[in-house]
Amino acid sequence: MKSVGTIDEMRHVIAGVRAKGKSISFVPTMGALHEGHLTLIDEAKRVADSVVMSIFVNPLQFGPSEDFDRYPRTLDDDAKLASKRGVDFLFTPTREDMYPEHAPVVIVHPGSVGKEWEGAVRPRHFEGVLTVVAKLFHIIMPDVAVFGQKDLQQAAAVKAMVRDLNFPVGILVAPTVREDDGLAMSSRNRYLSPKDRELGLILSKALFAMRDAFGRGERRASALEATGWRMLERVAGLTPRYLAAVNADTFQRVNNVRHGDAAVGAVRVGETRLIDNIIF
Ligand code: AMP
Repeated sequence: MKSVGTIDEMRHVIAGVRAKGKSISFVPTMGALHEGHLTLIDEAKRVADSVVMSIFVNPLQFGPSEDFDRYPRTLDDDAKLASKRGVDFLFTPTREDMYPEHAPVVIVHPGSVGKEWEGAVRPRHFEGVLTVVAKLFHIIMPDVAVFGQKDLQQAAAVKAMVRDLNFPVGILVAPTVREDDGLAMSSRNRYLSPKDRELGLILSKALFAMRDAFGRGERRASALEATGWRMLERVAGLTPRYLAAVNADTFQRVNNVRHGDAAVGAVRVGETRLIDNIIF
């Protein structure tokens, strides 16, 4: 694996890969890698000749009171994991290189896909995500980029950007990787005490209960949501933020749930926010 620290060098490397006629897949991350990220590498290897992974904790997608400063940064471990799993190029640009003007003047607005749910709880979050993803796509110019279902609204916003702005990039969404007990893997799970982890697990359980109820034939979103809410509301120390049945592409709430729609949820345990989703 080759480590690449600047945009100029990354462009140079990409030109070399293209000159050899090779295809490129891309996995953007913020590091603190876990098995969820690593399965995206497997997927990326499956679909192209060369795999680029980026690690960049993007200040633009964090709100002023969020965890940008304390976000876990474990670059040495990440590089070992990425290399072992088969990444060809690890791109780790600096903040100064990515945002020389400190904050960009031009940003990408997610529109209706990014308005509700995470977009409502975290104003401007998806602007930050789409702006950095657009920049990274322009630097790396991949054939395919791989995202995780774990951040389903993010994946939907990226797909909408690629469609509406005609990016020549295919988007793949890989399934959420979970711990044995069902907790969705997340870089933020390392913030959780054992007690908080138990509480956080209830979000996944509520989503699974909604999926089970759908499997038994329930189609009314309000009834499915009530099933999940009942599980979240009876727990002290857990603050539910949202839980809803939505269309997995538009992220608009649905009244009648169909196969392929999603249940999305977010909770706060202590200082940590957890999100998760399932596809019906
Ligand atoms: P992050 O580093 O949190 O920005 O995530 C980078 C990519 O990894 C995103 O596309 C995430 O959706 C994906 N990802 C994070 N956690 C998981 C997981 N548990 N399973 C699958 N993909 C994940």
